[in-house]
Amino acid sequence: MMRDGFGRTIDYLRLSVTDRCNLRCVYCLPEAAPRFVPGADLLSDDEITALIGAFARAGVSKIRITGGEPLVRPGLPALVRRLSGIPGIEDLSLSTNGVLLSGLAAELKAAGLRRVNISLDTLRPDRFARIARFGALSSVLAGVEAALDAGLAPVKLNVVTAKGMNDDEIGAFAALTEKKPLNVRFIELMPMGETGFFSPERRVPLGEMMAAAGPLEPVSAGDRPPGHGPARYYRRPGADGTIGFISALSCGFCDSCNRVRLSSTGTLIPCLDGEDGVDLRGPLRRGAGAEPLAALIRDAVRAKPESHGMVARAASSDANKRHMCSIGG
Ligand code: SAM
Repeated sequence: MMRDGFGRTIDYLRLSVTDRCNLRCVYCLPEAAPRFVPGADLLSDDEITALIGAFARAGVSKIRITGGEPLVRPGLPALVRRLSGIPGIEDLSLSTNGVLLSGLAAELKAAGLRRVNISLDTLRPDRFARIARFGALSSVLAGVEAALDAGLAPVKLNVVTAKGMNDDEIGAFAALTEKKPLNVRFIELMPMGETGFFSPERRVPLGEMMAAAGPLEPVSAGDRPPGHGPARYYRRPGADGTIGFISALSCGFCDSCNRVRLSSTGTLIPCLDGEDGVDLRGPLRRGAGAEPLAALIRDAVRAKPESHGMVARAASSDANKRHMCSIGG
């Protein structure tokens, strides 16, 4: 078991397998192709497997594969199979924009993936084109169906919610939970990346989101979807699915933070909002074995900051220089 300097148990890693993405969501990336890292700087499958072995040795048991868009990494099912076989890794999940999921869901499930979060901010095709700039809503919806059919349960839909972008669709997303066993989570817009999109006026207050999603009743702790992390969960009466709210700014969730992040280039990032990190790729490429790497991981976790600085940042529209795609969300 690994604890940070504030007594929090850290057992969850968000693993970015690429910084590339096939979408350019307005709040996440600039429209002009950002400078992606050279291929030689990305971790190989062997390197990721070795580093996850070291994380497991240090005390991590849950991994979420993310990106960039993880499904654009060639051969992802083979990597999933390797990671799912690492002793100590008990839960392997994926965050995706869903565009390529319909062709991969069954293969990923067979390789050992347990569950999937799909990011989807609108149910309207024309609006999808404006928000995501590339891709098509129909392919994401096909990905959602394929994930349900493959048994990648629970399927969570992550909806970044912003004024003037999609706040008028909160009710429509909430209604989906009455038709299918989906867990819809509304995520507060965060000041990440120099996209020029974030402003305090874009934020939808939690109370407003809850009113638009209702009627809601609280979901008891034992009935929440696995991996519930920072979300607060509710349900429309009689619905199969649940409705969650993730409010990094309105309701600080740092007290219960259980995670660190590994970038696609092998930098351990202790806090979502941090601009520093600890390089693990260098020591790995110089031949460090599992125990020295695990020691570096434990040291980095011990130095994890108590809380993020996004509240102050948000008040002044000052975005973190790292965009979400390089951190993995
Ligand atoms: N491509 C994958 C996906 O779409 O889920 C994984 C990476 S993506 C960066 C992870 C999550 O971060 C997505 O749900 C995305 O909507 C969210 N995200 C990106 N920028 C954000 C921002 N400024 N505020 C809140 N969430 C953001």
